[in-house]
Amino acid sequence: MHIVQAGMEFDVLKANNRIAHENYHTLKSHGIKSVDFMGSIGAGKTALIIEMGKRLVAQGKKVCVIAGDVTGDDDFERFQQAGLDAVNCNTGKECHLDANLIKKTLATMDLDRYDIVIIENVGNLVCPADFPLGTDFRAVVVSTTEGDDMVRKHHAVFQHSDIAILNKMDISDAVGVDPAVITGDYNRLTGGLKNMYTCSARKGDGVDTIIEALGF
Ligand code: MG
Ligand code: ZN
Repeated sequence: MHIVQAGMEFDVLKANNRIAHENYHTLKSHGIKSVDFMGSIGAGKTALIIEMGKRLVAQGKKVCVIAGDVTGDDDFERFQQAGLDAVNCNTGKECHLDANLIKKTLATMDLDRYDIVIIENVGNLVCPADFPLGTDFRAVVVSTTEGDDMVRKHHAVFQHSDIAILNKMDISDAVGVDPAVITGDYNRLTGGLKNMYTCSARKGDGVDTIIEALGF
């Protein structure tokens, strides 16, 4: 028995990182703080961003959300309906955002109008990890409804994220998942150096702590 490990093409990743660096400077030159939310479909990224966005706007911050999706404008519409400025960013067929697509998206925005840019990556826990976009923070969102093995199955995205969030805490009992198993796996993965943030985006619990952690 042996294990075959696949890796991304080095040149592709190098090119992405170079453009991510440009994006970082573009955002900084406009005094913008930013975060890239990664996570599976159904983890609750959109709900969490809406909850955060509303609170930040209420604090007088000027927020724009970049809604990354393969196709469609469902999340984009949800952001707009919540009263948030948003840009729809479709990848066409790619299962992740990349720095070049974000560079093009930023070029369509009036960046002087914003203090904070929140990016919702495509619903996927695997490849977004390989493609930094140039944000201050990368965050990964998982939910209790996805089972208790998400950290064990997806090391890379947790290792590449600055902040990990466990959502849907309010229904962990109903789905028979012990959140302590997930947060415990995360603590082990990060050598006990980092704690996972817990929240219920729908109820609004834990959202302020996440905003604080991001320095927004
Ligand atoms: Mg979404
Ligand atoms: Zn992908």
